[in-house]
This record gives sequence, structure tokens and C-alpha cells, in this order.
Amino acid sequence: MKILVTGGAGFIGSAVVRLAISRGYEVVNLDALTYAACLENVAPVADSPLYAFEKADIRDADALAAIFARHKPDAVMHLAAESHVDRSIDGPGAFIETNVMGTYNLLQAARAYWEAEGRPESFCFHHISTDEVYGSLGPTGQFTEETPYAPNSPYSASKAGSDHLVRAWHETYGLPVVLTNCSNNYGPYHFPEKLIPVVILNALAGKPLPIYGDGSNVRDWLFVEDHADALLLVLEKGILGRSYNIGGENERSNLELVQTICTILDTLRPGDAPYAEQITFVTDRPGHDARYAIDPTRIREELGWRPSVTVEEGLERTVCWYLENEDWWRPLLERHGVGERLGKA
Ligand code: NAD
Repeated sequence: MKILVTGGAGFIGSAVVRLAISRGYEVVNLDALTYAACLENVAPVADSPLYAFEKADIRDADALAAIFARHKPDAVMHLAAESHVDRSIDGPGAFIETNVMGTYNLLQAARAYWEAEGRPESFCFHHISTDEVYGSLGPTGQFTEETPYAPNSPYSASKAGSDHLVRAWHETYGLPVVLTNCSNNYGPYHFPEKLIPVVILNALAGKPLPIYGDGSNVRDWLFVEDHADALLLVLEKGILGRSYNIGGENERSNLELVQTICTILDTLRPGDAPYAEQITFVTDRPGHDARYAIDPTRIREELGWRPSVTVEEGLERTVCWYLENEDWWRPLLERHGVGERLGKA
């Protein structure tokens, strides 16, 4: 099977590309190489005869049509997006252009190609989305696939919009689609503007470890390699037209999460004082959702999928990876000055 992966130079997309190639899929990685991309993320598979790269922007409809015609994929896994909530608050326009209009362009290109190929039933357009489309939970309850959408940030609103477009292209034009809505990911190659790499790298640099509000916001954390595994399973076995929630069954408050990272670092790279002493509470993010939690019953019962690691195991692997891969993250910090943003994140 040949898969067109959009956003394959990003954090999750590159995990999908690496896993798919290791399992013998052909992959065409389509990425505009925005600030969040890093081609080093796919270096382990870049020389494979199964791998091809196309630098293209999903806002460019003509480029998309040419790529479908050139590569004739059997499936699309659509991960290209603007993905950082803080950036969406500072500048929402780019999120509408890429996440909404870009997804529209990709759907139209996929549909034209699929129709030209005789509407093969085996084709699949898999849209990768977030649990943030469901809004915020109180102290109890979980998001199911039937939970009404109630996005609160420009990022989650743009992802909700793209989910609705994908669903409509299935209902209206018959395009074979599946959707997945996933909780927060973490793991190797995570761009150093997101919470977990910020905490690891700031801790090592002796800088404050910024936590929004009082640190009580709860997220369900999923190791990125488990997510990639679930995504390939849904692509292969998911029922067309359906959504699948994917979660780690690992709910932690932000404060608990940061304390766990500090404890791991205290063991692996002891400092003069416990790293937790660097924790600093900063003014809360506007519209900050209190709690996300995923009910994974559908993917577990229909497809037999479960996460393979606990958050403690996954965090230890992640911290080890950052300790061993300074060659990856140091140039990113210097190139993008994200270190300057970290105090805000
Ligand atoms: P990321 O920011 O690390 O990577 C996004 C990739 O998309 C980058 O390589 C970037 O260059 C590319 N891209 C951005 N705009 C583009 C455009 N206009 N045309 C072509 N390529 C473009 O994001 P991520 O964290 O890997 O997230 C991937 C997908 O998974 C997103 O759709 C996101 O909404 C979704 N998701 C992320 C999480 C998470 O915790 N990170 C959780 C659930 C769902």
C-alpha cells in the first residue's frame, strides 16, 4: 500500500512515516516544512526505497493535484496542520488557512483523484485530529465519539472545522474516510515549544519550569509511537465514515506530569538541587480547558488496540531520548529562538 502522509516532517507525522516504512508500506511524505518541521525526524528512513518526499503546501491546490497524479496513493493520512494552541491565540489566521482551507484543498484533490481512478472502495482518507474539539470536561466523565463538539481555542475550532469537512465529503460525495481524535502526545522528536520538551530542556538549562495557573489542568498523555501504531491500525481496519477516539489511559495533572519528569531527571542527570525547585506558576492561558479524558472503548473493542506503555515508562524513554539527542534539539532552539518563547508556554 502507498500512503500519502501530510505533515510527515512534524512530530506525529514523522513517527507515522518511520513506523509505516518499518512495516513495509510505501510512503510519500508531503510537507511544507514550516517552522515546526524537521527533516531529521525522518532521517532513519530517508534512504529507504519505500520513501519519497514532496515539499508542498496544502494551501496550494494545484500542487496537491500534481502530487496525487504523480504518486497515485492508495490512502491519505492527513496530519499537516498548525498545531500549537498558544500560537493560535496570538495569530489565528494561519490556523484557519492551513487547518480549514488546507484540509478543504486536500479533500478536493483526493476526491478528484479518487473519482478519476473509478472510485476504488479500497481508497481511504484518514484525518488525524484532536480530542480538543470536544472542549473541556469537569472532574468526571470522558469524551466518547458521540460527545458534541465544543472547541474553545482557535486551534481546536480549526480542527473541529476540518473534521466536519471530512465527514461531509464522506456523506455528500461518498469519499471513503476515517477520522481519529487523539489526546496529548509526547515522545522523541517533539518540537521544543511544547510542554514536555520545554520542561526537560529548561530543567537541564537551569531555567524556570513554567506551569499555567495552578497546574491542575488534566490531560490524557499518549506516547507518540503508540499513537502511530493506532493510526495505522485504524487506516487498515477502521470502519469507513467512523471516528475513533485514541487515548493513553494516562490522565495526569500538568503539575503531576512536570513533577514526574523532574523525578526522572533527578535519577538520570542529578543536579545540585531537585529539579522540581525550578517549577514556576505562570498566568493561565485564556480559554484553558480544565480536563480532557478519552473513552477508548470503541478502538479497544472494535480493533483490539491498547496503549503499550504507561506515562511513567514513556516519559523515561522520552527523557533518555532528549539526553542522548542534543544534536537534534540544540540547533532547533538556536534556529527558531523557541527558547525565548518557553517562558510563555
Ligand atoms: P507538528 O506541528 O509537529 O507538525 C505539523 C507538520 O505539518 C509540520 O511538519 C509542518 O511543516 C506541516 N505543515 C504545517 N502547515 C502545512 C501546510 N500548510 N502544508 C503542508 N504541511 C504543513 O504537529 P503534530 O503535533 O505532529 O500534529 C500532527 C497532527 O496531529 C495535527 O493535525 C494535530 O492537530 C494532530 N494532533 C496532535 C496532537 C499532539 O498532541 N501533538 C494530538 C492529537 C492530534
